[in-house]
Amino acid sequence: MFEKVLIANRGEIALRVIRACRDLGIRTVAVHSTIDSDAMHVRLADESVCIGPPAPRDSYLSMAALISAATVAGADAIHPGLGFLAENSTFAQVVADHGFIFIGPSPDHIATMGDKIAAKAAMAAVGVSGVPGGDNAIEDETEAARIAAEIGYPVLVKAAAGGGGRGMQIARTPTNLGPALGLARREAAGAFGDSRVFIEKFIENPRHIEIQILADSHGNAVHLGERDCSIQRRHQKVIEEAPSPILDESLRTGIGERAATAVRRLGYLGVGTLEFLFDGRDFHFIEMNTRLQVEHPVTEMVTGVDLVREQLTVAAGGKLTFGQKDVRFDGHAIECRVNAEDARTFVPSPGRVREYHPPGGPGIRVDSALFAGCIVPPHYDSLVAKLVAHGPDRAIATARLARALDEYVIEGIETNLDLHRRIARNQDFNNGACDIHWLERWMDNA
Ligand code: ADP
Repeated sequence: MFEKVLIANRGEIALRVIRACRDLGIRTVAVHSTIDSDAMHVRLADESVCIGPPAPRDSYLSMAALISAATVAGADAIHPGLGFLAENSTFAQVVADHGFIFIGPSPDHIATMGDKIAAKAAMAAVGVSGVPGGDNAIEDETEAARIAAEIGYPVLVKAAAGGGGRGMQIARTPTNLGPALGLARREAAGAFGDSRVFIEKFIENPRHIEIQILADSHGNAVHLGERDCSIQRRHQKVIEEAPSPILDESLRTGIGERAATAVRRLGYLGVGTLEFLFDGRDFHFIEMNTRLQVEHPVTEMVTGVDLVREQLTVAAGGKLTFGQKDVRFDGHAIECRVNAEDARTFVPSPGRVREYHPPGGPGIRVDSALFAGCIVPPHYDSLVAKLVAHGPDRAIATARLARALDEYVIEGIETNLDLHRRIARNQDFNNGACDIHWLERWMDNA
């Protein structure tokens, strides 16, 4: 096992990794920008290194600063967390080139899965089929029209390098296709520096269902069931839960085993998530995330597996500590993403937190780096806390979630806690009846 791990991240995810390291007796090195010098991840780590000014490109995204920090601190491995450089294959390579272990999959797997076209091809080759369409980048409008006619409208134009729900444009009819292509290309070039787009079938009212997998370097791979992440706004997840209210045992086991087999055949290492759209009958692969996900705690709550502990173990060359038959699912878990943002406009709301009181009691877990007096800087992601409720069944988990949301006090900054409180008491939500468009439809009518 490692002796000292540097965590190339901040906020709640840095805390999450520090905690897993502590449990394993691994020393931790936090890195921070100047504005984060008093942050919780700095306080809880064994050591910390300032890596630059607040702007991400000068600190948390600076490979040179991170490698220097790891060298000075004498770390033997680097955990990228999520966001920032977690899915940057160049970083994974640079980390290895400097003699450190990158806690994640190989640079090749990161690069392949970071390109949605390549990812669909790689998955198809190991038995996981994607949304119809999208085998190649679109060269011109004629080709786009031909593919769209073949798969049938409506279609979605997507950025190959896309992420964060950006670079997607729907075309419902042939006349929409040209404009959608232009818009998606421009957005992709601006956001990702890569204007390649592809076309796939727009699935009308699917659920977003993803499978958590875990693999070691000894040929073992398991799945830890699904998460249903259908409560979304602008293609971004707001609430996630496990198990999905609409899957039965045979669907769950079928897709889980297909995902585990696929990553075993790929020779993948570490944690990962295969994302699917489920149309009520079939699962259509959309992408794979080659890192820990924001919503990993819901899986931890229903399986009792510490995903970060396993991630550290397999990165250090260890074997998985359990097999597929040992994975047990217990009850139901639901996670709310608490963001520092204006309740009406969704514009980020940085500032100083004046009062802070997290909820507790049976079945409640809060992953957050907030404390009274801390600063939420404007430079980073607006996610400030994850509230997860677990219960023996979905009704109890939902009741606990609603109760915990009522207890939660965050003052000084705006948050979306009220939105979560309203969703937790909504009838459709309580019935488990929400597809990926439900939240936006409901907010439009509210
Ligand atoms: P990103 O990498 O930007 O998160 P994804 O490919 O993971 O993009 O898709 C994010 C979300 O966008 C999905 O959960 C779903 O809501 C929507 N989406 C993506 N592809 C399709 C599709 N073919 N049909 C309908 N909705 C889609």
